[in-house]
Amino acid sequence: MKRVSRRAAHYIRDELLKRERFIVIALNSGHKIVSVNRSDPDWNLPGLIRGSVLPDSLVSLLDAASDASEPTVFPYVELNDFFVDIHVLGDRESADLVIHDVSTDHHNEQILQQRAHENSLLSEQRAALNSELTELNQELFLRRRQAEKASAAKSRFIASMSHEFRSPIASIMGYADLLQTELPDSNNPQALQRASWHLLTLVENLLEQAREGKENISLNPTRFSLDRLAGDIEALFRPQSTTKGLAFEVKSSPVGIEVECDELRLRQILINLVSNALRYTRQGLVSVHFIHRDDNLYIRVRDSGRGIAAGDIDRIFEAFTRVGEDTTSGAGLGLTISRQLINRMGGHLKVESEPDVGSEFRVVIPCPSTQAKPGEMPSLSGTVLWVDDDPDILSLYQVILENWGLRVITASSVAQARDLFNSNDCPLVVTDIHLMDGNGVELFSHLKVQRPDIMGIVISGSGVVDLTEEVAGEGIRTFLQKPIDAEVLYKEIAAAFAGDQPEHTF
Ligand code: ADP
Repeated sequence: MKRVSRRAAHYIRDELLKRERFIVIALNSGHKIVSVNRSDPDWNLPGLIRGSVLPDSLVSLLDAASDASEPTVFPYVELNDFFVDIHVLGDRESADLVIHDVSTDHHNEQILQQRAHENSLLSEQRAALNSELTELNQELFLRRRQAEKASAAKSRFIASMSHEFRSPIASIMGYADLLQTELPDSNNPQALQRASWHLLTLVENLLEQAREGKENISLNPTRFSLDRLAGDIEALFRPQSTTKGLAFEVKSSPVGIEVECDELRLRQILINLVSNALRYTRQGLVSVHFIHRDDNLYIRVRDSGRGIAAGDIDRIFEAFTRVGEDTTSGAGLGLTISRQLINRMGGHLKVESEPDVGSEFRVVIPCPSTQAKPGEMPSLSGTVLWVDDDPDILSLYQVILENWGLRVITASSVAQARDLFNSNDCPLVVTDIHLMDGNGVELFSHLKVQRPDIMGIVISGSGVVDLTEEVAGEGIRTFLQKPIDAEVLYKEIAAAFAGDQPEHTF
């Protein structure tokens, strides 16, 4: 460094002395203190008094620095609660000690070290947390994949189970209908019908609950007679009310109208509500009233049963939740499903109840009406190829269609259907979608290549899979769900042979 002027040197010294604390000690050869100069008159260290001998602790530093030609610095020496740098200048004969108070620097340095230590601990913790988070994310991802796979497997299982359930129920119901015509005075067909409707409703409840993306369920509105629906409900539940000794009343007004909504769903709702009313009522009355007004169907199911406590009213709509004394069987699903269905149909369900007095469930569903036409089924003519791998369904619909005057050719597989189609003139093909050796829609497309003017009706027993897209564009007239409503089927077939444009072409 270049030499500075004496004036600048003095200035620097004075500035330094203002900020820093120094003690400068001059010693003689016997380590006796000859002079003590302090930059700060308030700062002194014990034992550093002119005329006294240097304390032993500092003498040892002098010894360590002896013979050094350059000044020696001993940093951060702890002296009476202070940290000081001690500079030794000179030799044994006459030495100067410059003691510089660096306590603040030392303190700051310690804080810095502490912070650095804390920071490194924090970084270690963060790194550990990050790796834990990564593991958790991976686990979450795996679990979600597993859940998605399980859910997809569940949906496939439900779809195939529903098919398995619906087909036999459909054939029980169809035969019960036939028996009813053959044996109008017997109770047996009614018992069969009742049992199958209950089975069907239970299956539908479970399917509904298990179904993914509940809002996507497609409704299947059909026209039906309100009187017939009321009559069916009466016939279904009359035996149960008689056994329990309950008065049972079903009324509908106005008489003689047809309404249009999803009849299967409506029956499901009614069966849930009416069977609850009968199950939770020991004595008195259960009544079901249907009123159609201004394109709305109002249904009131009233009972004089055990009622529901005010605090439980909301809970009864929660899935798998049952309230009150648990003496009756039930899965706690009926009301949950009924409310979901009613909401889906654009309506709402309300309940009023008083414990030990009774309950009233009120449903409103938008449902346009038309005046009923005389319910005759004029004879039809034509040939239908019916394809289903369930032999009971085949013989059931063979009887029904032949009763309507049609010629029916039945096939139980895709292969047989193709053979029979080749050897017969079949303008209308009715096929189940799931066949043992193939798919009904593909079969129809194949046959249509051979004969472009054929008409098709596809039937499915699966309530889960939406077939709209699958059958779209295939030229299929309509798609019906099992169990098939005989009146709807008659109308579809009659319309097909009359050359009417399909109402629900996809
Ligand atoms: P489940 O009847 O199979 O248990 P629901 O969802 O149909 O399932 O009904 C849920 C609960 O609501 C029932 O457990 C019952 O406690 C109560 N509940 C439903 N309907 C009635 C009724 N009409 N009277 C009294 N309690 C009822």
